[in-house]
Amino acid sequence: MADFDVPDLKEYPVIPTIHEGVMAHSKPFVAKEEFQEQLGFPGELVDNWQQVAIDKMGELSGKYRSLQVFLDACVKCGACTDKCHYYLGTSDPKNMPVARQDLYRKVYRRYYTFAGKYFPKLVGATDLTKDVLDDWYSYFHQCSQCRRCSVFCPYGIDTAEISMAAREVMDCIGVGQKYCNEIIGKVYKIGNNLGLPEAALADTLEGLEEDIEDDTDVKVRLPLDEKGAEVLLVTPSADFFAEPHVDGLMGYAKVFHEAGISWTLSSHASEAANFGMFIGSYENMRRVSLRIREAALDLGVKRIIFGECGHAWRVAYSFLNTLAGPFDFLDPKYPVPQHIMEFTYDLIQRKGITLDKSANDDMVLTYHDSCNVARASRMGPMPGGQFILPREVIKASCNHFYDMPQDTIHDATFCCGGGGGLLTDDLMELRVKGALPRMEALKYVVEKYGVTHMAAICAICKSQFTKVLPYYGFRMDSIVSVHQLVSNAIVLGDKQ
Ligand code: SF4
Ligand code: SF4
Repeated sequence: MADFDVPDLKEYPVIPTIHEGVMAHSKPFVAKEEFQEQLGFPGELVDNWQQVAIDKMGELSGKYRSLQVFLDACVKCGACTDKCHYYLGTSDPKNMPVARQDLYRKVYRRYYTFAGKYFPKLVGATDLTKDVLDDWYSYFHQCSQCRRCSVFCPYGIDTAEISMAAREVMDCIGVGQKYCNEIIGKVYKIGNNLGLPEAALADTLEGLEEDIEDDTDVKVRLPLDEKGAEVLLVTPSADFFAEPHVDGLMGYAKVFHEAGISWTLSSHASEAANFGMFIGSYENMRRVSLRIREAALDLGVKRIIFGECGHAWRVAYSFLNTLAGPFDFLDPKYPVPQHIMEFTYDLIQRKGITLDKSANDDMVLTYHDSCNVARASRMGPMPGGQFILPREVIKASCNHFYDMPQDTIHDATFCCGGGGGLLTDDLMELRVKGALPRMEALKYVVEKYGVTHMAAICAICKSQFTKVLPYYGFRMDSIVSVHQLVSNAIVLGDKQ
């Protein structure tokens, strides 16, 4: 099945012996000129690339104080070394977070510290050479920016930010990644990552309405571009067609239907994902975010609700107001933005929907905390709401739920292996190996409790698991959307 060795699932997680350079070959395809240029980057490696890169590094550490602190603060304590799923799955020492950071730090030291300028060997400073650039391209595309390492670092050093900075530097010298940059271009041209035009989107939504009606005998609407609706739902475009995402979308529609709230999708902002974050580009992240503001103003909505997407929620929760605010035209009674999980959880608390748990009795569930939701956002009014709300919604929708081991969930959750702009077939070996810690945790609950399905609230996690589960002997359809469970359990017409 694979042209690489799939790691064995062990009884207990084992920290691997190091194997130097075993993943040096892993690199994503480079973006073509046309895709670079539409994002405002040079089409190919510029002649004076070293100087441009060094200047950009200076600009970034001047602009982002956190980046400079992260570069200066590491004491090489080693606490992060065995915390990255890519190290655990590949055994390549450059996938240890501190070693990944050092790829950048060594160059930063050479050009931006006194000791590095005059005594480079003493402080491990390095010139920015083509070999160093090759290592950057390889290993900064083996970081899913999941922030797990930062939880265990006594200084809170966030490798994700360093990897974002490295990708931005590479984009600025003309060496961008095909997958991310092509996708951002599609959002600018068409409105979503998939390149799904308005007519096809309208057609898809109509088809889903028919499916729900065939299934339930109830007419549940999935409106598009409906002016004056109360809620604008911004959701990942994978929700429009892929399994199990689409089942989640039908779940949101049924929840809005039962709540009696008018809502709409937008063809202009038909994408919640914002790959600008993955490439560390504030400007591209802002351009993508502004589409949501424009759609909300154009449609005259009062609230913005995000669907199930991990990094989209991170961008929305942490940056949307800065990138595209102020949102003073929305109803101040509601959080801006709100997550669909908060909306559904609130309805459940208020008994605004009826759920028949037995509808999911064919499944024994566990829950995968998506890294961006777990470590870069929050939900609801209580601390840790991002862990509590999804679990409460699952437990309200099904009778059988078991968590995976404590050191693999909540803020210690393992990335699915495909986040951070790595969900591309040219990185399949990395994706499969990076999924190892999550697969081991899943195996544990499968054997101990008879778990049959794992629920998630991230489009990337769902797509990644659909692809990698079979490599480890699990069924590809054992990953489900949380709102798919709600969709199965909701009793339609009960509250009308
Ligand atoms: S942010 Fe995540 S993927 Fe990147 S080095 Fe840290 S643990 Fe690994
Ligand atoms: S845990 Fe933090 S301080 Fe320690 S080696 Fe890792 S990044 Fe450096």
